[in-house]
Amino acid sequence: MANPRIVVVGAGMAGIGVATKLRELGFNDVTLVEAAGEPGGRVAKSSLGKSWVDTGAQYIHGASKANPVYCLLKKSGLLDGIPKEEGTVVTYTGTGNKLDPRFAEHLFEEGEAMLKYRGSNSEKSLGEHLAEQALAFIENWQGDDEEKRKVQRVLVSVGKQTLTSIGATDLNKVSLSSWQYYKNMGEDLDVAGSMFQLVDILLEDFPKDQLLLSKAVCEIDWDGSFSSENGREYPVRIGTENGEDILADHVVVTISLGCLKSQASTLFRPQLPEEKLQVIDKLGFGNLAKIFLEYEEAFWGSDVEDIRLISEESFPHLHHNPDQWLKSLEIFTVLKPKKKFGNVLIGWCSGTVADLIETMSEEELSKAITERLRTYTGNASIPPPKTVLYTRWHNNKLTQGAYAFLPVGVSGLVMDILAQPLSSSKNSSQDLQVLFAGEATIKSLYGTVHGALLSGYREAERLALHYNRTVTPGVLCDT
Ligand SMILES: Cc1cc2nc3c(=O)[nH]c(=O)nc-3n(C[C@H](O)[C@H](O)[C@H](O)COP(=O)(O)OP(=O)(O)OC[C@H]3O[C@@H](n4cnc5c(N)ncnc54)[C@H](O)[C@@H]3O)c2cc1C
Repeated sequence: MANPRIVVVGAGMAGIGVATKLRELGFNDVTLVEAAGEPGGRVAKSSLGKSWVDTGAQYIHGASKANPVYCLLKKSGLLDGIPKEEGTVVTYTGTGNKLDPRFAEHLFEEGEAMLKYRGSNSEKSLGEHLAEQALAFIENWQGDDEEKRKVQRVLVSVGKQTLTSIGATDLNKVSLSSWQYYKNMGEDLDVAGSMFQLVDILLEDFPKDQLLLSKAVCEIDWDGSFSSENGREYPVRIGTENGEDILADHVVVTISLGCLKSQASTLFRPQLPEEKLQVIDKLGFGNLAKIFLEYEEAFWGSDVEDIRLISEESFPHLHHNPDQWLKSLEIFTVLKPKKKFGNVLIGWCSGTVADLIETMSEEELSKAITERLRTYTGNASIPPPKTVLYTRWHNNKLTQGAYAFLPVGVSGLVMDILAQPLSSSKNSSQDLQVLFAGEATIKSLYGTVHGALLSGYREAERLALHYNRTVTPGVLCDT
């Protein structure tokens, strides 16, 4: 077939990746169908004060030329204004007590190194592993009991911050082999205010009439035979909530794992294979809350990058507890540059505490966070923020959470099963009818923007090879 009709469901990074790469590879009958009123999915923005802020992704996890997101933003000049110098991290242990920054930094690095496990042990948890390593480390620490308690607090805090980056609730339930297949592309880079611009950059040349917005797909019939008005038969029918039918030779499904969890058993006819349904069930899909706090004046120093409030906790306490949700709010990042954003902090928390925060009012959050900041910093004159803006990824029915993680007992290999395309049971010339892309389908880069994009490129290339087209190299940059 010279010109197959391909429908991509979901215009997040994976869907945009598939659709734009397909066009680059010479396919022109490509339709991108998105339920929301705008494309981008979990790469999203909201206006705050003087500027736009990223309510979804904001860091390039691996800022190097191997990373297409880094290359795309760099080529567009969007990395030029990114502050390069590292700021200071202030760590409060309560009532105005601060840890010596070098002591805290050293311990944070030690804790992070303990968590960089690359082996294969999906039956053990990251929490158990960290507790074992940390307790041995503390035992050997040359210092008095009070200092050892401080070391313990910092190492527990490293665990809780890792939990936040995973999006989960309990580190004792996250697989130790979470990073077994992970591809390290380099250092993280905060690209606040630039990440959301990726959407326009990627879609710049994509035909507007082939991007269908505000059309939620509610039915995917495959392995069938559907006649179009021009008399052509297609094996796939995509039905939208607006009552429209779109027929296709191939459909690429890129909706989030959260949406698959709630819809996979009803969306597809025939039903997805049992093995795929089990994977959708087994994989974890967490939540991450970003709470933007805008102030008239900064109450932190101009060189401060992060404010950390670390609680009195011990191992194996490595979970977020909604009953003590404020304790889970340990990190506040300063949004930089100040010239662009004004005086803004972002508070981070994950899992069920993030779910709870989504149900709270701005006033409740403002009051509780202000009290906590005052107590920890010992500065009773910290004013309430003039604006509070927070994300609701769990309640967003088009996402239903933040990103995938591997619970104990689940290997990253199951993501390959999720990525497996479905072919016709009757007609071998109708292979690759339903394909899957999205951050949860890529075991080497799940939970990231570039992972989602590359999973999209992967599926476009799968189709290109199927049609014997030449596959070109992806986005590259020099440095
Ligand atoms: C708060 C937060 C912070 C993050 N921070 C980072 C970070 O700093 N760095 C990083 O690399 N990654 C980060 N991530 C992860 C990253 O944003 C995601 O991995 C990536 O954007 C996912 O892209 P995707 O295309 O797989 O899925 P999505 O972006 O979820 O795209 C799926 C699309 O499908 C649409 N859709 C859903 N249902 C339907 C339907 N029935 N019909 C049609 N369309 C539908 C959705 O509206 C959505 O647009 C963060 C995510 C969150 C939530």
